[in-house]
Amino acid sequence: MGKEATRIGIFGGTFDPVHTAHLEVAEAVSRALGLDRMLVVVANEPWQKLGRPVTAAEDRYAMMVAAVEGRPGLEPCRMEIDRGGPSYTIDTVEELRRADPLAALTLVVGSDVVPELTSWKDEPALRRLVTLAVVGRPGAPRVRTPPGWHAVEVPVAPFDVSSTGLRERLEAGRSVEGLVPDAVIRCIAQRGLYATRR
Ligand code: ATP
Repeated sequence: MGKEATRIGIFGGTFDPVHTAHLEVAEAVSRALGLDRMLVVVANEPWQKLGRPVTAAEDRYAMMVAAVEGRPGLEPCRMEIDRGGPSYTIDTVEELRRADPLAALTLVVGSDVVPELTSWKDEPALRRLVTLAVVGRPGAPRVRTPPGWHAVEVPVAPFDVSSTGLRERLEAGRSVEGLVPDAVIRCIAQRGLYATRR
């Protein structure tokens, strides 16, 4: 009998900073779809977010490492940082397939990302290589997946938090307790991120 394909989830983002909704989403999708691994992939240069300064990739990765403490199902992944340059999901997917050509890959996205998929690099190749797992995001309208994608919707408890909102709170000197793990709050303070060192 042949070996069963490893089912790998890919949850990519800027994670500037990572927050509790990111972690809940990754765990909920992994559980719902019975995945073997869930990679949280920290983007090196998020080409979609070039309109604003982005925190250094190593700082965002350090926050992710802190965030997954006590969440053994989540694996921080620095593949895009190590590759360098702009981060394209197709490159990450192809790298994962080279490492394990039989792996079944599931790309996890919030519903706010779905309308952007058609602008992603090599979208036709990407949609052939992955299944899309879409989770609802408070404030983002329900959207139709672009043609050609194999998509499943995964219900998760809505959690109205965004990295933008957290950056605003931090820059204003307000608390983010309960919205990001305590280990991430410590990491932010130690590294003096988001103007917390003023
Ligand atoms: P920003 O506010 O800076 O745009 P963000 O909170 O959207 O950041 P990203 O790192 O851009 O965080 O998101 C990574 C992934 O997490 C995306 O697929 C996004 O849709 C999803 N996501 C982020 N926040 C939530 C949330 N509250 N509920 C569901 N999905 C979310």
